[in-house]
Order: sequence, then C-alpha cells, then structure tokens
Amino acid sequence: MSYTNEDPGKQSGLVADIDHYHLKLRVPCLEDGRFYRNPKPAPEKVWTISECSKYYLCLDGEVFGFKCSTGLLFDVKRQICDFKLNVDNCDVVAEAKVPRPLLEAAECENPDHLGCGDGACLPSEFFCDGSVDCTDGSDEGWCDADHDPNAASPCDPRSCKLPDCFCSRDGTLIPNRLESSQVPQMILLTFDDAINSENWDLYTQHLFIPERKNANGCPIRGTFYVSHQYTNYQQTQKLWNDGHEIAVHSITHRGPEEWWSNNATIEDWFDEMVGQANIINRFAGVRMEEIRGMRVPFLRVGWNRQFLMMKEFGFVYDASMVAPFSDPPLWPYTLDHKIPHQCTGNNQRCPSRSYPGIWEIVMNQLAVEGYTCAMVDSCPPHLSGDEVYNMLTHNFKRHYNTNRAPYGLYFHTTWFKKPEYLAAFKKFLDEMTKLPDVWFVTNYQAIEWMRNPTPINQLNQFEPWNCKRQVCILCSKQASRSSTRVCVRICVSIRRPEFECSGPQLEGPEFECSGPQLEGPEFEYSELSLKVCGSRYCELE
Ligand SMILES: [Zn+2]
Repeated sequence: MSYTNEDPGKQSGLVADIDHYHLKLRVPCLEDGRFYRNPKPAPEKVWTISECSKYYLCLDGEVFGFKCSTGLLFDVKRQICDFKLNVDNCDVVAEAKVPRPLLEAAECENPDHLGCGDGACLPSEFFCDGSVDCTDGSDEGWCDADHDPNAASPCDPRSCKLPDCFCSRDGTLIPNRLESSQVPQMILLTFDDAINSENWDLYTQHLFIPERKNANGCPIRGTFYVSHQYTNYQQTQKLWNDGHEIAVHSITHRGPEEWWSNNATIEDWFDEMVGQANIINRFAGVRMEEIRGMRVPFLRVGWNRQFLMMKEFGFVYDASMVAPFSDPPLWPYTLDHKIPHQCTGNNQRCPSRSYPGIWEIVMNQLAVEGYTCAMVDSCPPHLSGDEVYNMLTHNFKRHYNTNRAPYGLYFHTTWFKKPEYLAAFKKFLDEMTKLPDVWFVTNYQAIEWMRNPTPINQLNQFEPWNCKRQVCILCSKQASRSSTRVCVRICVSIRRPEFECSGPQLEGPEFECSGPQLEGPEFEYSELSLKVCGSRYCELE
C-alpha cells in the first residue's frame, strides 16, 4: 500500500461495505487494472453523491468495491476522489480505451510494417512514437514496456557492462557482484523545490554542518532538485560551491499532475528542464556540464518524451521513478534495457524504449507501520519523533544488512518544520556519520561509484568522492588602476585549504559581484598566479 493522497483505495480506507459475493452478482468485472463505476446503475441515480462516490476494481475475476470519503465524488478520468465541483464524469463508467493494434496479426505485406486496430498497415517505427498515425489511434494507445512493439529488451548481462551499462534481472544485484561487506552504504539525501531563506538555515545550520563528515574527511553532501519559483540563486550557488549537487526540477512546477505524464510534448520537456538548467547556469553560475540530473514534479514520469529530451540534452540521470516496495531494495540501473520493476503509481507512464547510458536512480520506498512511502514527507504524518528515528534506522538496516543498495531519503523541507522530526533526523545523521562504511554522497557521486565499483578499503583514494573539486570563491583585491575594490573569481582546490579565500575579508556588500563584470582585463590577477588545469579544475600555483 502506498500512503499518498492520490490513491483512491487508500483515501476511502478500502471500504468493504458490500461483500464480494453480492458485488459479483451486481457489478461485472472490467479487468484492465483501473478503477471503474458500476456499468448498470439506476439511471436516475447516476449523478447522486451516493452513486458517484462508489467505484470498483476487478482483480483476478473478483470485484472489489470502494467509496470516497464523505462529500467527495470519484473522478474516473483522474482515478481519484475529489470535490463535487471538480468531477464532471459521473456518467462515464470507465475511461474510453483506445483499441488494441493488431501488430503482426495484421499480416502486413511489408515485413517492416505493423497493423493498426482497424487492419491498416504502417511502418513499425510509427507505433508508440508519441504522435497518432492510425486513424483509430491504436498505434499510441498501448505503449507501456509490455506492449510497445519497439520496447527495450530485457536485461542481458553479457552485453550490458559497466561503466556505461548496468542492469540485473530483478534490479537487486550489486555492481560487479562485489561482496556486500565491500560495498560502502551510500545514503542519498535529496531536497526538492525552491532554495531560499525558508530552508537556508536548515541546510547550512542544521544538516550540512562541518562536523558531519564522511570517512575520507570530506563533509557530507546532498542533491538539490531546484524549481524556479521563489529560488534564490545566490544561495543555490553557495550550495554548489560547497560541493552539493544542483539538479533540475522544472521551471514552472505546474499542475495538474497528470500534465507531466500525458500532455507535455517533447518541446514542453525542453522548455521546462533544459530551460531550468539554463537559468541555474546563468543565475547561480553552476557549470552546464555539472547539471546532470532531473526529477519530475510530483514524480510524474513523462514516458518516452521525457527521456528523448534527456538523451538530446545530455542529462546523465533521472530520479523520478518509484519502484514497488522491494526487500532487498533495488540498485540504480541504466535504461539500456527494460526497467526491472513494475511502473508504480496511478496512471504512471514509465519509458518503454531503450535509452542507452541514461541512469535511473530508482526510488526505493520506506516501510513504516504497514505503509510505504517514496518521499519521507509522504510517510504517515502522525508519527512521533521516536517513531521517525526508528523508521529511519529500520529502513537503513534493510539496505545495510542486505545488498547495500543506496539508501535514499527524499525530502520536501516542510517536513522539518516539526521540531521533533528535525531532532530525530539530526540524531540519525550523527549516528550514521560514526559508521566508517556509511557515506553521504550526491546522486551523481553514487553513479560514479557504480561506474567504477570501489571496495571500502580503497575509498580514501576514490577520486569522485574526494572534496578536491572546483570551488569558485569571490575574493576581493585592489584593482590595478583604481582604488575601488573589485572581485575576482578564482578557483581553488579545497585540498589545499591554505589557498581558500574564505574569512572576514569576503564579507560585506562590497563583494557582491557576479556575472560579466568578473571578466575582462580590468581585473588584477597578478598577485595570485592561477594555473588552469583542464577545463574542469583550476588550482592556485
Ligand atoms: Zn516539487
């Protein structure tokens, strides 16, 4: 069971008000895995609250009945309970299904053609390409991983090899079949939506404080999925400078939720995600090549269109897909092959095609009190601080004592507003940072480890987890020909802290400078000699 507001079965509390035997007699089975209404209601009752709030699900020939909470009606199109004002389909029994294409059964003359539902033959690449070609629409109606005639093939471990391809049949295998005792337990902390003064203190004063370090001495780090509205890009830049990963969560974060799965075109995906990458690059100064990951708003995966955009733009990974609860949990995988789990969620649309080399940092669900939840803030809200702490450690052990798949803790920061939750989480962080084989890394750092699985005893030399990385710091200097203070932007290795230009001389509004004014000959560099080593790093000589 998943504890979300979107799941009608949950919202109504799985009302078993009518026993199954009678249901079977009265309501026929419509078995397509979706909720539907009674096809034979008394005509005068169709728009009544009592009739329109009932809905049914057929599983293995058995009908299960549900009822929305008092005052709500069932919306058969969106598959949720909602207020009367928002439901306009009480007279629709089930969402109209597009006819099924005949495919090979049409016995088309051309061997590269497949049949529409009405028998018309079209080139096979027209099927499930995102635009309707058959007159009955059947080429685009059956396009999940099990029906797309051009779907990705199942995992083939013989051809799928690291560093660029990784898969396993059920998704639970450790990369390179390393012994679990040799695998660092990665913990992935992620935060969605705007970065601003609402959450700045949480990040900098409570969670990512200098005392919390990984075993190599580097501070613990997380990943931020940034949407545009209300984001402060100066703070975003600071987090990036501190070594956190900045990733993309769309410009508009618009609703309705299903828009991302059903309506967004490839152009929309470009506008939203590549657009936000450009905004982050421009206003927070994050290097374009270091914007690698994305998460879709509401975790509404965008079928093949999202991944086509990702391939075109060069995103390295997506972090939006939720796996069904699995024990042991799943490892991230590449999308060369068919995804190794069911596509979970209501009307969720996972990609059906192959996207070689694009990683999916699949979201394992947390288990708590018989519920499961993908985001920590969608777990039951009535837990006490102690229960939250127990939930965090219990699920940690499910990873740590089995296959050590990365342990993801995914947040919206409103969750931390309860002081007892913040305290429980800080206690958890402090316990975890004491363990030498537990590492808090960014999502991209997790991918780098998977590309090159390195045993625990060699991790101090594992370059991608080192904190030697490009850090840009604003430093003040006297301009050569004027007495005004200007800023230059230099890059230093924080492995050589003696060159870090931090400290009091950096504070104050006179050092607020950014953007193009940093370029050009008016900046005096002579007192610091800069060595540029490659495009990614530069160090002080
Ligand atoms: Zn969001």
